[in-house]
Amino acid sequence: MLCRFSQSTLVLSLVAASMLPAIVSAANNNTPAAFSKKANQHNGQTAVHYQFSFANAVHNEALVTVRFSQLPAGPLSLQFSNASPGRYARHDFAKNIYQLTARNSKGEPLPLQRLAPSQWQVSEQDGSVEISYRLYGDHADGTYNQIDHRHAHLNMPATLLWSPDLQQNPISLSFIDHPADWQVATQLPQSTDGRWLATDLDELMDSPLELSRHTVQQWTVASAGKNYQLVLATHHQGTTEDEAVLLAKTKAVVAEQMAVFGELPDFDHGRYVFINDFLPGVTGDGMEHRNSTIVTSNKSLYQANFDQLGTISHEFFHAWNVERIRPASLEPFLYHGGNMSESLWFAEGVTSYYGDLLLKRSGHYSEQAYLALLSRKLNRFIQSPGRQFASALQMSQQAPFVDAAVAVDQHNYGNSYISYYLYGDMLGLALDLTLRQPATERNLDQLMRLMWQRFGKTERPYQTSDLQTALADSSGDQKLAADFFSRYIQGNQLPDFQALFATMGLVLQTKSSTAASAGAVQFRTEDGKLIVAGNSKIGSALYQAGIDRDDVLLQIGRDRLSTEQDWQAALAKLKPGQQVELRYQQYGEERTTRLTLGQDPELELVTMESLGQKPAKAALKRRAAWLDSALKG
Ligand SMILES: [Zn+2]
Repeated sequence: MLCRFSQSTLVLSLVAASMLPAIVSAANNNTPAAFSKKANQHNGQTAVHYQFSFANAVHNEALVTVRFSQLPAGPLSLQFSNASPGRYARHDFAKNIYQLTARNSKGEPLPLQRLAPSQWQVSEQDGSVEISYRLYGDHADGTYNQIDHRHAHLNMPATLLWSPDLQQNPISLSFIDHPADWQVATQLPQSTDGRWLATDLDELMDSPLELSRHTVQQWTVASAGKNYQLVLATHHQGTTEDEAVLLAKTKAVVAEQMAVFGELPDFDHGRYVFINDFLPGVTGDGMEHRNSTIVTSNKSLYQANFDQLGTISHEFFHAWNVERIRPASLEPFLYHGGNMSESLWFAEGVTSYYGDLLLKRSGHYSEQAYLALLSRKLNRFIQSPGRQFASALQMSQQAPFVDAAVAVDQHNYGNSYISYYLYGDMLGLALDLTLRQPATERNLDQLMRLMWQRFGKTERPYQTSDLQTALADSSGDQKLAADFFSRYIQGNQLPDFQALFATMGLVLQTKSSTAASAGAVQFRTEDGKLIVAGNSKIGSALYQAGIDRDDVLLQIGRDRLSTEQDWQAALAKLKPGQQVELRYQQYGEERTTRLTLGQDPELELVTMESLGQKPAKAALKRRAAWLDSALKG
């Protein structure tokens, strides 16, 4: 996730001298031993060395020992992160560490002062300080840790106590007290003495680790005169046949992604690792890094019907878009406090658009499946009340509140907010279709490739205005770029999707003009009561009638309500525009209101052929150029 914009070449060459071209190799094969016996076995080649003991893995704990050496005189500052690159909300990771101790070079205890919830200080030291702490983790995803008898799944900002004074120094890692058959999957290189190496804190923070008994599959891809190794490290309970299918599908989508940009990124150590955890007790997620990704799912490949490919495709696209085509607002990344970015609609949303589109081009999705997926996304986007309140830029700035953020009070995001993933995804679609119109005959791939050449390859962070300039240059149409940005990026207008799809021989139409709707609503049932589970949507019949979250619906018209089926059956008897009485309970008090039903707004995207219409040849050609593999012909 982190950029190496200010990397010191001196530091890099010092570490490179001792690197092995290992990708995933066996960890030190120690048998479980007493929890902290080996804490002092550092070999001191780097000024910062972390050692992890997994002797207490069965209770979801690691013992972490970090030695800071070659220290100048004076106090040593220590910190735990409360933000993790790629996750935009704040997380107080320090809540999961305890029993911190500090020792000097002679092993004598040192006082450790806690200055703030995530900050400590050692006031007096003799050039070497060793800190140890217990780390608890039982949430495997792209942000947190899970340590158990099956694996150690580690995201570094949630793992490391670090010193701001030594951020630029090379760092090494070693692992002890784990089952003999565990291997290490990581983007980090390994030294000849078996330690894992990072050139500095930023590289280490960007390098998640998976220690487990997992399968390793790899292949070589030639790009721009170099060979790169791509590695699938998969920890799962599936079959070797599943692994073969996963490999074939991943290879196909990697090839389509490369075709968009014309080349692979120049991966830092000549390789890229997909770290897959498909296990019970794991939380579904994906997280991008510069030279690897974490992909987690609590379903097996079989159970999910290889749905994990959606995450794999999204995260690999990030190797270009966000890891290297990088918004200036994410640089430098603040491990303490996090960053606000107005560019997430592009960095995340356009990545989501391509994540799915390239699965269509690679053959994972049929045309019908892809159009059905677009229909679902278009429905969510077009029917979201949130668009009237904020632009894609402003929705991006909301990320710190919504990206796995935790709070106990109620919120109104269902009305006030649209995810920048969905918003940017749909704007990416609109922009791609706009560029592909007969008047322009360009496409979004050309913009992505220009952004790659200007900002990605050169690792020069971009501003929103750079994006508009690149659109003007790649389309050859300054007016189109200015218009698109002012209407849809700075503004919050809805693109005319019907017209855009028409030139592709596709029809976006209302699914049913006779079905009545009270608005999108979620229910829960408790003790035979039908309860509204989420906030009513602004503009819906329920909202107009004063119904909201936690209201108990008792009767609509002459039909009593106790299940969601009762509600659906009652609505099916009614027509759009009809008025009907609704009896309900709010804060324990029984009340009556009148509902004026609307038309079911659900849209569907279908081909003209499926409606018995004949699309123009040019439209079919345009559709094929958009959806078919870029590798054929
Ligand atoms: Zn993403």
